[in-house]
Amino acid sequence: MTIAINSHRPKTVAVRAGFGTDTSFGSIAQPIHQTSTFAFRAVNEPGPHDYSRTSNPTREALESCLAALEGGKFGYAFASGMAAETTLLSTFGAGDHLIVHRDLYSGTHRLLTGALANKNILFDFVDVIDLDAIRAAVRPSTKAIWIESPTNPCLRVVDLKGIAGVAEEYGIFTMCDNTIASPYFQRPLEHGIDVVVHSTTKYLNGHSDVIGGALILNDSEIAKKIAFLQNTMGAVPSPFDCFLVLRGIKTLPVRMEEHNRNALAIASFLQHHPKVSEVLHPGLESHPQYELARKQMSGYGGTFSFRVRGARDEAFRFLGALKLFTIAQSFGGVQSLIAHPVTMTHKWLPPDMRQVMGITDELIRISVGLEDVEDLLADLDLSLAEM
Ligand SMILES: *Cc1c(COP(=O)(O)O)cnc(C)c1O
Repeated sequence: MTIAINSHRPKTVAVRAGFGTDTSFGSIAQPIHQTSTFAFRAVNEPGPHDYSRTSNPTREALESCLAALEGGKFGYAFASGMAAETTLLSTFGAGDHLIVHRDLYSGTHRLLTGALANKNILFDFVDVIDLDAIRAAVRPSTKAIWIESPTNPCLRVVDLKGIAGVAEEYGIFTMCDNTIASPYFQRPLEHGIDVVVHSTTKYLNGHSDVIGGALILNDSEIAKKIAFLQNTMGAVPSPFDCFLVLRGIKTLPVRMEEHNRNALAIASFLQHHPKVSEVLHPGLESHPQYELARKQMSGYGGTFSFRVRGARDEAFRFLGALKLFTIAQSFGGVQSLIAHPVTMTHKWLPPDMRQVMGITDELIRISVGLEDVEDLLADLDLSLAEM
């Protein structure tokens, strides 16, 4: 059941899409239908749901909300971002060729080069900032281009409309991981991308208390395949996790505005700090794709990276001195987190790959939360002094 709302404004969509599906009691909050199966109405007469792997009312409310937020027709929720990616990749078979963004999330690298290595899906890692490099990589067996923008952890921005255009020239489809920007600040489908991928673990849920993923798209043929694989492969989220993500989404717009404001203030502070050599934030004029980012995004969120002057020792001393920022993987929650990509999130990448991606020993990734920005600035300032 999808409840139509007659507004496309993100704040209204976030609060209202998927709302009001409880026709029995009119609950304002989304009920958690914690059930594995559903009674048939009569012999050979199932109700709207029959088994929770196939569909569940709580999941359906989340899926319709995710679709509405991205401006897509179909949304599918998964048990994790990686489960969403694995299911999407299962639409491809042996001999199919993919053009994969060189700067993709490290877990996606591991999925392609590790878990799926024996599936004979062919892929090339390409720096998709260069549209001609994409054209040069296309083969007769190329089926799709997989991109991420902005990238994690170096915040490179790729031209979504440009890439969708190249894909159209060759009749191949495009998939974009939109986890860092969130649908509040960027909607890839509006730029011609075919499938949006999310780790709902990050900003969509926003409270660091759930692992989840999603796929959102418009094409009904691909949607049919995804729905089939979602049910058949079974990497679905629990009703309770769906409830948590849906609850988190209600405040996505206000959280994103505040993450964005805090992160920009911190990025500007760091940019002028003598112990910082570079700040990688697409909202700074010094960012090489500042203009492109402004064109296709309406804000940036709270995640960005910077380089301290020095090497690993200096980075570790700085991290060790922090009192408010918590050293942890992940991003997108209300608490400010900080990570050292080389030894944490991107440890798994081969060193030469890290080198070309610019993931070096002095790189720090920061997920700016919703604490008072003055406290966050003071923590960074004091810790840089001890570096
Ligand atoms: C975290 C993340 C994923 C993987 O999602 P999980 O929910 O951890 O499985 C995929 N892409 C990006 C950009 C991420 O940040």
